[in-house]
Amino acid sequence: MVSRVIPVDDFDLVIFGATGDLAHRKILPGLFRRFKAGQFPATSRIIGAARTEQDDAAFQAEAAAAICDYTGTDKNDADLAEFLPLLGYVAIDAKGEGGWQELKSRMRPGAVHAFYFSVAPALFGDIAERLAGHGIAHDDSRIVVEKPFGRDLASARALNATLAKHFHEDQIYRIDHYLGKETVQNLMAVRFANVLFEPLWNAQYVDHVQITVAETVGVAGRGSYYDKSGAIRDMVQNHMMQLLCLIAMEPPYHFDPDAVRDEKLKVIRALQPVEPGDIVRGQYQGEGSDYLTDAEDPASRTESYVAMKVRISNWRWQGTPFYLRTGKKLRARTSEIAITFKAPPHSIFDDSGVPKANELVIRLQPNEGMNLKVMIKEPGPGGMRLVQVPLDMSFAEALGAEGADMPDAYERLIMDVIRGNQTLFMRGDEVEAAWAWTDPIINAWEDSKRQPEPYDSGSSGPDEALRLMHRDNRRWREIRS
Ligand code: NAP
Repeated sequence: MVSRVIPVDDFDLVIFGATGDLAHRKILPGLFRRFKAGQFPATSRIIGAARTEQDDAAFQAEAAAAICDYTGTDKNDADLAEFLPLLGYVAIDAKGEGGWQELKSRMRPGAVHAFYFSVAPALFGDIAERLAGHGIAHDDSRIVVEKPFGRDLASARALNATLAKHFHEDQIYRIDHYLGKETVQNLMAVRFANVLFEPLWNAQYVDHVQITVAETVGVAGRGSYYDKSGAIRDMVQNHMMQLLCLIAMEPPYHFDPDAVRDEKLKVIRALQPVEPGDIVRGQYQGEGSDYLTDAEDPASRTESYVAMKVRISNWRWQGTPFYLRTGKKLRARTSEIAITFKAPPHSIFDDSGVPKANELVIRLQPNEGMNLKVMIKEPGPGGMRLVQVPLDMSFAEALGAEGADMPDAYERLIMDVIRGNQTLFMRGDEVEAAWAWTDPIINAWEDSKRQPEPYDSGSSGPDEALRLMHRDNRRWREIRS
């Protein structure tokens, strides 16, 4: 299969926070990979900005080291040598007035202008204000803002209002890197480019949906930061909400940014409040791997795990629960969505076992792909015996070299910013609606005196979460990579 790289226009991309972790791990390596793939012209400019005083050459050396570290590129790579001269640097304190005029002088008229705010959210307002105040941003400029987008509805609204003072909604790209993952976009292709699934994609045929995002890492090293957030803020309000929306939304009339985001918003607004009995929080524990130690607060009530039953109040999903779970220090690192269909209403195979329900599993990581479980006859003599087998597809295998070299989420999203395509970015009202649903869940917990359920590091989560399913006569899929 021939790799198709659709080139983008000449651009000037300013990365605020260019000396930080995200820039080193994702943004700069991602840009390099897109350059190497020939996706953008060598006339484009990438300008790093942060408080650290350094010149272009020092930033180029810093970027080269990060790219080599995170992409495995050799330091003498010919493409790297061509890429580095695209990089420049301006020392800027987001809260000060120095450096902005120099930045302005480096922006080329006629190129696409994008400003990536890869700094703490507390600085978003300062940067937006100074970009506008110094006449650097114009009506066509784009800004990219990182998560977390607020920590509750009030702060998200305030952030939206701050950005809206200087930028229109169609200039604001709120990143949720989950939306840039190849398989997440595949959810839309699977649903809306096939006739096979969509007729069954409703409460009449779907028994329930499970969405799992399991991590093996804990929070050691960034525990005091994580402890202010927890699994609901860190994963459910944003990433899992996006997955839920893509699974549950109605077909948009077109694959167009607002058409897609309108449909996602309708799902979020149709979410019922979560009953206290439908949610389980957990904290990992164990010798040398203990949340309370990692969080540096022996009295912390912040969850490192959450499982919940979510209901969507609309015609399509009335009566079909969505079970969400995510946690740290679990048995395996895996993200998947499993759609369990209803069992056939009647079995004609009296003595051969009851047909099991079909299940469609979409794996987001690792080994992105799809697995559809179907019933067949067990081969051999001995009459008609039924057995369930997987139709298993790994995208990397099915798509050959192109599948094996899928762009990282950040690479794709940055190229979409340059193209001016907001489909895979969250709109302001979407983020606010997600917080409006999440806030009462968080507030109810903060008002309660309960402690999270302990679970062993390396396990599948707390026993209480198993009971959440068992009482509905269902069970979680095994967490395995
Ligand atoms: P970080 O490693 O702490 O880097 C912060 C960057 O901001 C540094 O380049 C720092 O450089 C710069 N900075 C700090 N104060 C500044 C100021 N007053 N003016 C200008 N620049 C300033 O943070 P990070 O992990 O890269 O995260 C950046 C953003 O991405 C945050 O919003 C974070 O929530 C989000 N995010 C990060 C990740 C990740 O994996 N790292 C994942 C998802 C989202 P100087 O000290 O040189 O100024």
